[in-house]
Amino acid sequence: MGLTGAANPVPCLCLVCRTVLGRGEPCDIDPLHAVAPLDSPHGRESVLAAVWGPGSARQRARELTRAGVGGGAAGGILEGIGQGCGGCGELAGAGEAGAIIGVILAILAVAFFAVVIAWLVGRAVVAWQRRKHRLRPRGAARNVDYRRRGAWVEGVVEAKAPMGSWTGQADCVAWGLEVRADESRDGDVVMRDGRAAPFAVRLADGRRVEVPAGRVRVQAEGEVPEHARERVDGDALKTQLGSLADRAEEYEALVPGEHAEVVMLNPGDRVRVHGPLEAVATGDGGYRDGAAVFRSAGVAWLTRVG
Ligand SMILES: [Zn+2]
Repeated sequence: MGLTGAANPVPCLCLVCRTVLGRGEPCDIDPLHAVAPLDSPHGRESVLAAVWGPGSARQRARELTRAGVGGGAAGGILEGIGQGCGGCGELAGAGEAGAIIGVILAILAVAFFAVVIAWLVGRAVVAWQRRKHRLRPRGAARNVDYRRRGAWVEGVVEAKAPMGSWTGQADCVAWGLEVRADESRDGDVVMRDGRAAPFAVRLADGRRVEVPAGRVRVQAEGEVPEHARERVDGDALKTQLGSLADRAEEYEALVPGEHAEVVMLNPGDRVRVHGPLEAVATGDGGYRDGAAVFRSAGVAWLTRVG
């Protein structure tokens, strides 16, 4: 597993909270969450069903939105009539027949406006139908509730070697990511991920909590300074997510996000480590440099405190 998530295809995605998971790794929010591998057609279909609904519903939505395209024909008729009336103008100079021509022109004008109104109404109906049948992605059904992890300890990040952030454009010791969709049903998070280089959190009483390299969860509380966050959207996000699936063109359906928010941790930052800790066996009774050493039981959940 790479340290920057998008450098490698995502192995698995939790269908409930949309967390990126390693192969065979249970979801750390709830091991009962269903997880789908992204490198198999069956797994990708499971993700598509979670995001867009079952295959039959997706097919029906495609057909219904495609049916609206017929609206263009009315426009062609309208243009034809418009050109015809341009020719009518030449008849107006025909002397004594002017009154009759005037009546004909009035009738044509009424017909013209009737067609215009019918065309406009048709267009509005088509737009309404498209909007009604357009599928909107469904985001994560569950958000990450840090309070469920119980007690937390707070300290300062200490680290020797930083790693690249999610985009690789900044250095950090850990990052947490949420990819969001603007027009979604339910939740708007369509993917979340987090990685850490090995680092430690020094508590005020001298104890140390070690965070090993690998998957973590990172959130922020309070104002996040510019250097500790990244926002990725547009083509940069497409490029970043492009390596997600074996077939790059599928990622937009699997993770239909418009923007990604990244929170980063660096040496000196204040962080909370949530949840139960376990003592690390260091060979000298759980002490390293004279201080007791701990580690999160399972994946570390971290909050950057502004
Ligand atoms: Zn999950």
